[in-house]
Amino acid sequence: MPKGNKKINRRDFIKYSGIAGAALTLSGIAGAGYFAGKDKSTHTGWGKGAYGENQDFNRTPFRVNNPTYKKAGKPVRIGYLENIFNRNGELYRLMHPRDGSNPKWSLQQGVDDLPGDLKKFYKKHPGRLDEFKKAYRRGRQQKKNWEKYKDQYLLADAWSAAHSSPMRGREAFPAEPQDAPEKSDFKGINTKPCQLKSPGHGSRLMKKIAHTFGATLVGIAPVKEEWLYQGYLRGVGKTRYEKPPHWKHAIVVGIPHEWESLYANPVYGTSYDAYSMLNFIAGKLEVFLKHIGYAARSHVPPTDYDLVMPPLAIDAGLGEQGRNGILITPELGANTRLAAVTTNMPLENDKPIDIGIKEFCEKCKICAEQCPSGAISFDKQPPQVIRGYRRWEINQEKCFTIWNTVATSHPRGCRVCLAVCPYSRKNNWIHKLAKQMDAYDPTGAFSSAMLAMQKQFFDYPGAQEYLPPPDGSNAVYQEPPDWLKTEEWFDL
Ligand code: SF4
Ligand code: SF4
Repeated sequence: MPKGNKKINRRDFIKYSGIAGAALTLSGIAGAGYFAGKDKSTHTGWGKGAYGENQDFNRTPFRVNNPTYKKAGKPVRIGYLENIFNRNGELYRLMHPRDGSNPKWSLQQGVDDLPGDLKKFYKKHPGRLDEFKKAYRRGRQQKKNWEKYKDQYLLADAWSAAHSSPMRGREAFPAEPQDAPEKSDFKGINTKPCQLKSPGHGSRLMKKIAHTFGATLVGIAPVKEEWLYQGYLRGVGKTRYEKPPHWKHAIVVGIPHEWESLYANPVYGTSYDAYSMLNFIAGKLEVFLKHIGYAARSHVPPTDYDLVMPPLAIDAGLGEQGRNGILITPELGANTRLAAVTTNMPLENDKPIDIGIKEFCEKCKICAEQCPSGAISFDKQPPQVIRGYRRWEINQEKCFTIWNTVATSHPRGCRVCLAVCPYSRKNNWIHKLAKQMDAYDPTGAFSSAMLAMQKQFFDYPGAQEYLPPPDGSNAVYQEPPDWLKTEEWFDL
């Protein structure tokens, strides 16, 4: 019996692990995993299996009734300014008004000079405004640095730009909603659909379709009011609103970043390979749902969401939240990017899973050690209650400062915490075996041994080394692939 129903004991585990444990010593697993992971044929995710082959972790024994995030008070919806992109956007617009008028605020001014809600927010969160100022100044320096580095990172820049371009401008797909959900989610809907045989049929069909569109992982969750952003609704603007009654279920999809560039973060990676794929997958799901007679709205990266993705994906049984604040899945680890489609199609929800990621994170802390900004907590347990839940949360401002610091092109980012996570390993057989065995081990002994091997076999540059000189050396977690090295193809 696995962790999900907590009935396993040491004897059972030894029995289960005996399936393979007799054949492989722990060091053999780690060593074989390391070398097998270098094999390109073990890359997993989009493009590898159109029919769901990559969602191959058996979740059934790990299904639990209650999600692994812990309720610690009354749930509160995330407010408009609690999203860093919204509050930074507000500050940028004050500094650079769109109508070309004089700035309404500058870096030389303080919190008391900000308008109403922004002032209230930054008074409540001292230090965050100073960190914004630091990030802004670093961003200016980053632009200057880029002149120096852009030949070296030409291919990485081109690769990132190619991925982000289909998501920009008037032709972006899916199109941004232009109306309230009650109108836009029903636009173009087939008004005479066939009768669905059952919600179970609906779930199986939509999962299959999502896989054919390129989703590596698919799960279905109920739409809970507490995961809806508050204060802004796409198609309406700034507003307070309740959950639209037709948002009954969310089809949540996950895909990985391309593996070789992920490992070469921060400077060779991009977020947009996964983001653009997710836009296509969710957008196509929206079109498909409307054609068969159901309301649909896609929620896609980088910021076109009306719902918070990680808890929704936890509810959908895709994974658990890690110390780095993001979703970790058995198949893709922290290399999981998310989108969702809300719909009124009758569907069967999945149950959450518990494979012991929280317990592993208590010991591991590799992401906190490697984070160049110090944004990730080292505390054994999540120290904060966030809007009614005790859970990990990174320091968003510190993280954003690093996005504006590392020698990377636009669109910027870091993603070191995704790359270094031991769960972010390709799905070769040895890693699959290790993940299964760890999930079945209630003693924690297996994960401790695997963690020791991880630290032994993988090199970590050190948090500061990811920064440009003079603070660091533009280090990357693992060597970039040849196809992203400009010097392999061009004379510099
Ligand atoms: S993206 Fe980089 S800076 Fe941000 S939390 Fe992860 S490792 Fe830290
Ligand atoms: S690196 Fe370690 S501590 Fe961080 S999220 Fe991954 S497993 Fe958890």
